[in-house]
Amino acid sequence: MFRKINTIRLRQRAAFRVTKGKNMKKLIIEARLNEWAGREENPNVPFTADEIARDTQACHAAGASVVHYHARTPEGGPDFTPENFAQSIRQIRRDSKILIHLTLGNNIDGEPPEKRMRHIEELCKDPSLKPDFATVEVGTLVADLYDAKKREYLTKDTVFINRTSAVEYYLKKMRALGVKPYLGSWSVGTTRQMVTFHDMGWLEEPVYMTYALTNAPIVTGHPANWHGLQAHFGFVPDDLKLEWTTSAVNGNLLAYAEQVIRLGGHISIGLGDYPYPELGQPTNSDLIAEVVRMAKAAGREVATAADAATMLLPPGLAPH
Ligand code: ZN
Repeated sequence: MFRKINTIRLRQRAAFRVTKGKNMKKLIIEARLNEWAGREENPNVPFTADEIARDTQACHAAGASVVHYHARTPEGGPDFTPENFAQSIRQIRRDSKILIHLTLGNNIDGEPPEKRMRHIEELCKDPSLKPDFATVEVGTLVADLYDAKKREYLTKDTVFINRTSAVEYYLKKMRALGVKPYLGSWSVGTTRQMVTFHDMGWLEEPVYMTYALTNAPIVTGHPANWHGLQAHFGFVPDDLKLEWTTSAVNGNLLAYAEQVIRLGGHISIGLGDYPYPELGQPTNSDLIAEVVRMAKAAGREVATAADAATMLLPPGLAPH
């Protein structure tokens, strides 16, 4: 009982700390440029290395300190060749120190973890091309598409498989390569798995994780709103050093960004997750600028790329 009261007091104190403007930690804004998004709803989704590099610079100028993207073909198809990633990385690093967060390869059923890591390993052979982060989803998500209007599932066998054995492989391999894992959690269950991975020593602090919320047509994660985000809280031990961010698949993150900013979380936003028709056809940098505006209104300073490196990368894992 006393322990419970103490825990509540500690949380209240922590909450008080982050609500005092000047003392708030700086806000890390990540631009999530493209994922597998098409251009039907918003033509500003970048595909080619040139487009990705240009968009990255615009986002960096607007206030982003981390960029996440998937290499694509000029038509928008997937392209996991190290050469394609290398092309964009060279251009991005020529112009800025923004931290680069890359995706792993496709995880179609049966895709071995070694294959999903191949482009990361190849890039790490040249220190100037080593990404700062790579994504590791900490659990499996059923990702079937539900059509609410038709009241039927458009797919019935889609599973985003992330076996524990694969997660172990990624985490150990990334540690050896000096790439910081950027974790993704879909639900309370996968957040709890993150805690077990930390218990076993698979994760180095500070742990960096996104609470990835999902709106329809994917209804198996937490909904992309404040309630969906809040449901994660309370399952991470106070002594686990976690920097958390949030992303909203098929959802408007701006609708709950203010609460995140005031609570001390970080923001991972972009056209890769959602086309933002509420704003017309915004660019990625328009979204970043809007988050910066909200941060200013809340009295929270925005992190530079150097700030983000200090906050997220463990000592010894120097930025490129
Ligand atoms: Zn991604």
